[in-house]
Amino acid sequence: MAALREDSLAAAAAVDERRLCDRLDAMARIGAIPGQGVNRPALSPQDIEARALLLSWARELGLAASVDSIGNLFLRREGLDPSADPVMTGSHMDSQPKGGRFDGIYGVLAGLEALEAMAAAGVRTRAPVEVVAWTNEEGGRFPPCTMGSMVFAGARTVEDFADVRDNAGIRLGDALAQTLAATPDAMRRPPGGRVGAYVEAHIEQGPVLESAALQIGAVTGIQGMRWFNVEVSGESAHAGTAPVSLRRDALRQAVAMIGALRELTADPADVTRFTVGRMLVTPNSPNSVPSHVLFSVDIRHPDAAAIARLGEAVEQTCRALAGTCEVTVTPTLHDDPTAFDPAIVTLVEAASGAIGLPSMRLPSGASHDAMYMNRLCPTGMIFVPCERGISHNEAENAKPADLAAGARVLAATLAELANR
Ligand SMILES: [Zn+2]
Repeated sequence: MAALREDSLAAAAAVDERRLCDRLDAMARIGAIPGQGVNRPALSPQDIEARALLLSWARELGLAASVDSIGNLFLRREGLDPSADPVMTGSHMDSQPKGGRFDGIYGVLAGLEALEAMAAAGVRTRAPVEVVAWTNEEGGRFPPCTMGSMVFAGARTVEDFADVRDNAGIRLGDALAQTLAATPDAMRRPPGGRVGAYVEAHIEQGPVLESAALQIGAVTGIQGMRWFNVEVSGESAHAGTAPVSLRRDALRQAVAMIGALRELTADPADVTRFTVGRMLVTPNSPNSVPSHVLFSVDIRHPDAAAIARLGEAVEQTCRALAGTCEVTVTPTLHDDPTAFDPAIVTLVEAASGAIGLPSMRLPSGASHDAMYMNRLCPTGMIFVPCERGISHNEAENAKPADLAAGARVLAATLAELANR
């Protein structure tokens, strides 16, 4: 294992667990919901308040703030060579509607803590280091997810998303304009640009690290994901008078399709993920035969060939069970599996080992902004355990010592990358 620079270790040692946890607590009060959770939708008044709080801390630290056209917010600690490509870290500040107090915000505040630790330890880096808060990672209010990093990486444009509306009919473009107007002192910059490397810290959102009793995961990649909307159309009829044999019952066919999709994705090794999480039934009345059903399909697998095979089979599987109904299958998201840069994975392991924290390699089951950054530059992630792997839930919890351990590994990794 390659030795780490002394100043990288000094930065790690200067991480302050109390300061990090106090900031996490302060953020958890913005959009707090019963049961220790948060509801902080992207580009909402709560998001604006969280941005203002983050900017107030950045000002105290003398960091330069900038914001791009999708609202991604950047805090920069200048390097000895300001023309060097910045090393970036960060995550997101938005949450699921019934979200936890660590998902996303931990990566932003661990990044801020790493910069403060570098300052406290007197560590100067050759390259600048930037903390980014990505806009709308969750996609809970304005689908799809990982929107900010997608635009930054050039995969889509702001204009592609301007007319997406939330459940209240508010346009993303209008909510974004309000959010940008609320941060007038942040310098405007275009999305994208050269980046030296990107490392994101996040709670694992799964049970692997906790059951292995380890504080650090060196993330190897992110599994592939395919999303579909399946719409089944039949005919509404009276539940008391229409003979069952003559019905065109959209829900009956949808249930058959879901059963077949479950068989398609059955996996004795329990690696494949299959979820139907959303269903809209019309007219949704106890005594009417359903005329229309829309349901979502979310399939994930770390292997490219496996996810391709499953994704290709969805439409045919549904068609075969349409009966006398009509079915439309629309792909809504297609992310191939991501493999992070082996050199970054090795560096995270080395940094962890050098500060006395045993680690393990593991893949990510959830999507993250790091997936899009991986297209731009050498990328990796650092996971810390969360209680019983619970996430996207108000009960999400993580131990202060584990959160601080992740921030230490992050600080050392960033200092190392920025001094290459
Ligand atoms: Zn997240």
